[in-house]
Amino acid sequence: MRIAEVEALHLRIPEVQEIADGTQDVLVVRVRTDEGLVGYGEVSSAPTVVKAAIEAPRSAARRHGLAAVMVGTDPLDPPARWQEMYDASRWYGRRGVAIHAMSGIDLALWDIVGKAAGKPLAGLWGQRRARVRAYASTLFPDTAEEAERITQDFAAQGFTAVKFGWGSFGHDLEHDHAILDAIVAAAGDQVEVMVDAGLAWTADEAIRRAKLLFERYPITWLEEPLKEDDLDGYRRLTKEVDGRIAAGESDSTIYPFRDLLDRGVRVLQPDVGRAGGLTTCRQIGDLARERGAWCVPHCFSTGINLAASLQWMAVVPDAPFIEYSVRSSPLRNRLVRNVPIAVNGWVDVPTGPGLGIEVDEAVIDEFRVI
Ligand code: MG
Repeated sequence: MRIAEVEALHLRIPEVQEIADGTQDVLVVRVRTDEGLVGYGEVSSAPTVVKAAIEAPRSAARRHGLAAVMVGTDPLDPPARWQEMYDASRWYGRRGVAIHAMSGIDLALWDIVGKAAGKPLAGLWGQRRARVRAYASTLFPDTAEEAERITQDFAAQGFTAVKFGWGSFGHDLEHDHAILDAIVAAAGDQVEVMVDAGLAWTADEAIRRAKLLFERYPITWLEEPLKEDDLDGYRRLTKEVDGRIAAGESDSTIYPFRDLLDRGVRVLQPDVGRAGGLTTCRQIGDLARERGAWCVPHCFSTGINLAASLQWMAVVPDAPFIEYSVRSSPLRNRLVRNVPIAVNGWVDVPTGPGLGIEVDEAVIDEFRVI
């Protein structure tokens, strides 16, 4: 079997708001083989930039477009293809956009591997669980009243963990605590709460704020209090604070995750659509386990990303959570016909072959940017 075509499909809802919601504007990768199999992947990045990395022609050594490198090769060995793409893009890649683009292709190749075998990836890799505990993930609202109502809604839907992030949080201590007072009261004893500070603080601020947060609230983790590259800040913060610090959603390749572990970060959050696909994320998961940290995938996009993350979480020795976006974008809810649904706070691992999803080609046509 050979790869016949690699397409980068940019899908966009009519109105994209400038908020931290990755379900509005996505890049889907569709790979066809010469035997008629089709695999799908998704990239969590800036779609048009990623599209260029995939569609660029062959050039001088180490600066090729990725589709040109993949066509004609064997789709059934994704780690080998990963290394070829990495080597072919070293001059502009190694991190960032090139790895994001590789991630989408890697997911599509794994989808083909499963489809060729007639099994879900979890079934090929040694499935340990049929469902994963979900935490509901949404943006901080502007008022305590809204925060209370949203938390009550999540609890009523059966979620036992919720995360609020970005939005209005991080700029005013009194505002933040008023909102968290409302969330934690509404959550009660039954629902765990996580806080995503959305890169809001400097190291000094983060140390002060994190101490207050962990003293005052029973939060499961504090996510991205610092900018991604402030590794020295992460080291200082984790020395001063006992609570779990989470990070890594924007990182790509295994190396920055090793750096975060070295600085005391205890929850790694690779995104299968950015970090290097399932090939890299499974390595990051192994590394986290070796070092006693959690690996909880960032997952705030369409059903393709969610299904891929679930196939992975189904096979790891321990999978505390999967992130579950509750945004209402049509790409989040309709691109995949059988998008995995959280029921009573758990999401079933898809059982179909490959990623286990049925992508709706009519939705691709409806939202595709030509
Ligand atoms: Mg986050």
